[in-house]
Order: sequence, then structure tokens, then C-alpha cells
Amino acid sequence: MTNTTLPPLRDVINAYELRAKKSFGQNFLLDLNLTGKIARIPGDLSNSIVYEVGPGPGGLTRALLAHGAKRVVAVEMDERCLAPLTDVAAAYGNRLSVELGNALKVEEQTLLKLGNEDEARIVSNLPYNVGTLLFIKWLTLQDWKPWYRSLTLMFQQEVAERIVAAPGGKAYGRLSVLAQWRGQARIAMRVPAAAFTPPPKVASAIVHFEPTEPIDKRVQLKDIEKVVEKAFGQRRKMLRASLKGLEVPAIGLLEAANLDPTLRAENVTVAQFVELARQYRLLKSSN
Ligand code: SAM
Repeated sequence: MTNTTLPPLRDVINAYELRAKKSFGQNFLLDLNLTGKIARIPGDLSNSIVYEVGPGPGGLTRALLAHGAKRVVAVEMDERCLAPLTDVAAAYGNRLSVELGNALKVEEQTLLKLGNEDEARIVSNLPYNVGTLLFIKWLTLQDWKPWYRSLTLMFQQEVAERIVAAPGGKAYGRLSVLAQWRGQARIAMRVPAAAFTPPPKVASAIVHFEPTEPIDKRVQLKDIEKVVEKAFGQRRKMLRASLKGLEVPAIGLLEAANLDPTLRAENVTVAQFVELARQYRLLKSSN
């Protein structure tokens, strides 16, 4: 399904004068082999409406369409990219639609217009400056499981390591607990800085995330966020100290959650944080 009528991406960049702008977090992927590999990470796309943030000159977009995505809906902030993306849409039978806008403000479900049989997947080489914010936006939706089936996202390698980190090390923190509470995350590919034009200062990695059913349906997002924020706010302290100021006594809470008060946040598993959040809600409502 590869379309050979489109010119090489370097020619597109020259023709449309798409010199990468730092302010838009632009580091383009021009190697079609690499974009092809990324497009294959989520698996079969024939029933998928793929939401892509920041298509830029359209390298990854082309790959998603060539890999058989039913439709690709993209949001791009840089209007210089709209004309080259119109060429991509025309070459792929208008399976691509592009909106000019800021992905942080998009109401995705309205934009995607999903049919009953459709599954939504998000695939993006994210701009670094908004990547973590968008990921958190998609992890903190109230309705769970969410409207999307998977996320396949480029991050700075250090952020990717934090997302998948297990307890017991420096990388394990709020982002790890939130992501692993909401689903299963893995590093699907490491991407060296040299793969981008222009190359960024750091290496990157692609995280593939699939939402899972809630571990405990009684536990609310705001309670998990609260206990995790407190615990990691002073990550070097023991929980009996870091959880002070939570509106319920720290020692009573830890006892109720069956947790050793001398533990530090980085040694608490996701399941233990879930229980901590549940007990926090129970104690708070009985006050
Ligand atoms: N997908 C292209 C590729 O792989 O070559 C470009 C990736 S580049 C890292 C990030 C893209 O996101 C740029 O095209 C940039 O203009 C766009 N962008 C930056 N901030 C954005 C935002 N808040 N909403 C939508 N697009 C954004």
C-alpha cells in the first residue's frame, strides 16, 4: 500500500521551506524504514482511526497510511505543514484529515468521530515540550477504560525509562505509578538522536501503552494522585513522614493499608499505592 508518487521528505521540506523550528519542538523523522517500523508497533490498523499529534512534513503519517490505517486524523500547530499534508491526503485517497491547532486543547472524541466498529489509536512522534503533558492528559481521563485502544508515543529516553520503571530505583516516580496503574507500558523501540533532522541533544524511545481494566474499581483518580504526589514529594523520607499533611493521620493510614511506615515512596508497588488510595478515601469519609 506504499505510495510511490510522493516525493522524498527532504524534497518536501525544501519545496515548502519547512526549516525545523525549535519553538514547535520540531525534530523530523525522514527515514521511511524507521517510520514504517514505528507504524507497525500497534499492530493491524485496518479498523483503526489513528490520531496523530504533530505530523510535521508527514513522514510518520505516510507510514501509518501505508500500513493500512483506516483513517488518520492529525492535529498540527505549524500551518506551514498544511500544504504538504494536503498532498499526502490526496495520495492516499483522502484517508487523512488534518486540523490546525494545539493538541493540548483538542477534544479528541469529537474530532475523531468514531463509528461503532472503529477503534482509536494514538501514534505520535511528540514534540518534547508537550509530550509528558499530553501523556498525562490521556492517562487522567475520568472514564476508564478510555476511548482509545493504545498509545504509541515518542519520548525523550529518560522520560520513557520513568514511565516503565519498576519500584526500587531513581526512575520510579509519579509518572511510573500513574501509567502502570492505568495500563501496561513498555519501551517498544529506542531511537538514537541521529535518526532525527535536526538531531536533538538526547536519545529517544517509543513507549507503547495499552489501557487495562482498573485494578480496583473503588479507587478514584484524585485519591491516587493525592497519595502519590505526597509520597514522592519528599521521596527520600519514610512514608510516615512524607504522608503527613494528608488530612488523615499518616500512621493510621499506613496501618490500614498494611504498609511498613519506614518504607520510602520508591519502594511502594503500584498495587500498594492503590490500596493506600482506597484506605485514604475510607478514612477521610469516616472523619
Ligand atoms: N511527526 C513528524 C515527524 O515524525 O517527522 C514531526 C515530529 S516533531 C518532533 C513534532 C511536531 O509537532 C511538529 O510538526 C510540531 O509543529 C508539532 N507540534 C508542536 N506542538 C504541538 C501542539 N501543541 N499541538 C500540535 N502539534 C504540535
